[in-house]
Amino acid sequence: MIHYDYDLFTIGAGSGGVRASRVSAGFGAKVAVAEERYLGGTCVNVGCIPKKLLVYASHFRDDLNDAAGYGWSVGDRRFDWASLIANKNKEIERLNGVYRKILVASGVEIIEDHAEVIDSHTVAVNGKKITAKYILVAVGSWPMVPHFPGSEYAITSNEAFYLPSLPERVIVVGGGYIGVEFAGIFHGLGARTTQFYWEELFMRGFDDDIRRTLADEMRKRGIDLRFKADIAKIEKHQAALKATLTDGSTIEADQILYATGRLSKTLNLGLENAGVKLKPNGAVVVDEYSKSNVESIYAIGDCTDRMMLTPVAIAEAMAVANTLFNGKPTKPSYSNVATAVFSTPTCGTVGLTEQEAREQNYRIDVYRTVFKPLKHTLTGSDERTMMKLVVDQTTDKVLGCHMVGADAGEIIQGMAIALNCGATKAQFDATIGIHPTAAEEFVTMRTKVA
Ligand SMILES: Cc1cc2nc3c(=O)[nH]c(=O)nc-3n(C[C@H](O)[C@H](O)[C@H](O)COP(=O)(O)OP(=O)(O)OC[C@H]3O[C@@H](n4cnc5c(N)ncnc54)[C@H](O)[C@@H]3O)c2cc1C
Repeated sequence: MIHYDYDLFTIGAGSGGVRASRVSAGFGAKVAVAEERYLGGTCVNVGCIPKKLLVYASHFRDDLNDAAGYGWSVGDRRFDWASLIANKNKEIERLNGVYRKILVASGVEIIEDHAEVIDSHTVAVNGKKITAKYILVAVGSWPMVPHFPGSEYAITSNEAFYLPSLPERVIVVGGGYIGVEFAGIFHGLGARTTQFYWEELFMRGFDDDIRRTLADEMRKRGIDLRFKADIAKIEKHQAALKATLTDGSTIEADQILYATGRLSKTLNLGLENAGVKLKPNGAVVVDEYSKSNVESIYAIGDCTDRMMLTPVAIAEAMAVANTLFNGKPTKPSYSNVATAVFSTPTCGTVGLTEQEAREQNYRIDVYRTVFKPLKHTLTGSDERTMMKLVVDQTTDKVLGCHMVGADAGEIIQGMAIALNCGATKAQFDATIGIHPTAAEEFVTMRTKVA
């Protein structure tokens, strides 16, 4: 029998790698995990968690404004970016420690260094060769900035979390969820914010009603959204950055944040040494069990470019641990994965968009409501909430739920359970609502709009 140093060697202690390592160890496997940067990976350090903390910070401006309508006088207000970042950093350090404790308590050996694949059963860390029955690639992804004159002056979300001061003027380039979230954060904290996206409308892949509603709401709040616009060149003049757009016009900013996509972090990983197939964008090609074309090498999470979300990386990790060390071959399920976008206001979505349902030849009914949230009847804000259901005419099943408005992420999580149970519109209608909430609209929508 061949002897290996470990049953499982995981490269990357992010959302996926930590979960796969500790659960595999719990099933009795001898496990080591290599981490070159920070325990907890993107989500904990430069992703979901610090992002949501910054979103909370940015909402206080609205809360303080809204308070007046409810009789509160709020005195002198000041925002201190340095305190926010210091407090955020402290919380992240705490979480790094929690991840370390979890791994150690599970019996996983932590190797804090860069790991590289040498062959199908061997990795190298700092010149030392280590063998494993299975290698799990969980290296995540990295932000991508296109090359153009002056692109070196642009920052990405990684740097945005550690800026020394709040910029007065910010440009966000890109129309995905990270772009709209940062536009909301900077604007909420007081920066003059402009967002560029080179197509007609941002948030590609989301329901068109979400895309349009969010654009309207962001504009109402004062974010300068510019579609069919892109930067051709950035020049630095003392502390300021001058961006020249493709139409020749110019705009100045103190920071220009590119949120233009992320690529798998598979460069310099040595996967080619083991003959592991990669997609042209560098993502590891895997089967439904997250196995690469090499029997002993698996890959999970962002580096496989399936759905770049923390809970998905975790589900893939659980499936690999069950498959390899618990005698239960498991394929993760990607059906009805709910997501939230922590823009201001928030978006939540699960299931098919109206467009997807039509493309898949469903005959559908569409229910939609747009209303002023009760809270804003006293605040003077003209923010609107949008909620929408896409229903299959043939089976009456709800195929998609979409929302823009406060707490959309919290509300849509429950809807995802209903959709996974195959709930019908009749069952939604038979459910008694919670009054007065926005969520009750999902069970009281009676008028078809399409
Ligand atoms: C700004 C931002 C906001 C986000 N917000 C959300 C959100 O709200 N909700 C959500 O679900 N998802 C969100 N995500 C996505 C989420 O963070 C990722 O999907 C998730 O972290 C992927 O987990 P992973 O295990 O694949 O990779 P990661 O968490 O990135 O972990 C990979 C780890 O591997 C390490 N590594 C890489 N190469 C090596 C090597 N050769 N040797 C040793 N170590 C290595 C890296 O240092 C890293 O720690 C966000 C992402 C960003 C950037």
